[in-house]
Amino acid sequence: MTYSGFRVIREALTGHKGWRPVWRDSKPKPSYDFVIIGGGGHGLATAYYLAREFGEANIAVVEKGWIGGGNVGRNTTIIRSNYLLDGNEPFYEFSLKLWESLEQELNYNAMVSQRGILNLVHSDAQRDAARRRGNAMILNGSDAELLDVDGVRKLYPFLNFDNARFPIKGGLLHRRGGTVRHDAVAWGYARGADRRGVDIIQNCEVTGFRIENGRCLGVETTKGFIGATKLGVSVAGSSSRVMAMAGMRLPIESHVLQAFASEGLKPTLPGVITYGAGHFYCSQSNKGGLVFGGDIDGYNSYAQRGNLPAVEDVAESGISLIPALGRVRLLRSWGGIMDMSMDGSPFIDKTPIDGLYFNGGWCYGGFKATPAAGFAFAHLMSTDRPHKTATAYRLDRFRTGQIIDEKGQGAQPNLH
Ligand SMILES: Cc1cc2nc3c(=O)[nH]c(=O)nc-3n(C[C@H](O)[C@H](O)[C@H](O)COP(=O)(O)OP(=O)(O)OC[C@H]3O[C@@H](n4cnc5c(N)ncnc54)[C@H](O)[C@@H]3O)c2cc1C
Repeated sequence: MTYSGFRVIREALTGHKGWRPVWRDSKPKPSYDFVIIGGGGHGLATAYYLAREFGEANIAVVEKGWIGGGNVGRNTTIIRSNYLLDGNEPFYEFSLKLWESLEQELNYNAMVSQRGILNLVHSDAQRDAARRRGNAMILNGSDAELLDVDGVRKLYPFLNFDNARFPIKGGLLHRRGGTVRHDAVAWGYARGADRRGVDIIQNCEVTGFRIENGRCLGVETTKGFIGATKLGVSVAGSSSRVMAMAGMRLPIESHVLQAFASEGLKPTLPGVITYGAGHFYCSQSNKGGLVFGGDIDGYNSYAQRGNLPAVEDVAESGISLIPALGRVRLLRSWGGIMDMSMDGSPFIDKTPIDGLYFNGGWCYGGFKATPAAGFAFAHLMSTDRPHKTATAYRLDRFRTGQIIDEKGQGAQPNLH
């Protein structure tokens, strides 16, 4: 079933009886060539690119819950390619390029909206840092524009420009950044993978690994043993728990990150804005609600819900930047489990166990990485070589000292 304007009109005129389920509900086979654990955005994209780009077959995705129930359906939907370091920016630029053609490729409306993202600056030193980052972005093929106060005022006249502590002095505008309807990404990749023969097995939790003589032979699941020649783990916030079953300890902590949506408003925010003096990022959804978030909750947790101090902290930051927010009602909030790595950068690497591969440590930023992470993980699993944009995402980088500390803040997850 392909989607088109013509198809929508035809279904509207015939009572919407022709729509079909978007992917099959597969039962596990005894074994596969490739098994991906985790049916989030990354796991589904990996399966999709394994089939489409690398010509692999006999692939399954094993998901303990339902497709879209993890972070892929819980994030604040921001995509961008505005990193500073060489280990990161080429990878995120590759991802943004994949986003730009994703809907046509998947024949699925993921509402990719390049409405621009503006990082505000509040001091001269911050402006210098923004200029440096903008130059790094441009050198890597991305786009960046430094705005002065008047430039920011034109786009967002209602910000608190003259705040005594944090006056707004300008901002770094990345016009190709924006938002994407998050769960449509999971559904689009699931549909694309299913059409290429990938088995998507939901409600199937991995409970252990079968490892013999240093080689991974498959996984124990709530639906029985599934054999695999190559196994990829892509379980985001559950990374440390799942890899512990394979006897591995990761440089990752899990924390809750909350997101918030306000009541619907008339068009207010033309793009995404981030506060440079507090942790607050905000955009407006197509339904009109302001979608925003801030810091992780300050304790380790595997619960998909957060606590009130983080709500208060985010609301404080928001109101200090946009005083009018104080009049807006908060409609709902939710939480997801973040896989916070110790330098704020991810891993896409082989493990010391033969046949077992790992993708994780995405912190706040794994949604924008979805296409490139899937592509690079599929590249690694198919060819046993890292993709050229993901060579720095190694598991041994803390041992070798080659950390990718984008913000220069050390092993402190709440600052990444
Ligand atoms: C509130 C919030 C806001 C965010 N905002 C942004 C943003 O604006 N921009 C951005 O780039 N990123 C953002 N992120 C981060 C981003 O959402 C994640 O980094 C990314 O989605 C993680 O990859 P994923 O989609 O594969 O994860 P998930 O969707 O979480 O997929 C992992 C899957 O693994 C499954 N799983 C776990 N254990 C097992 C097991 N034992 N067996 C089988 N399956 C298992 C889970 O059920 C889950 O479905 C945000 C995250 C949150 C929580």
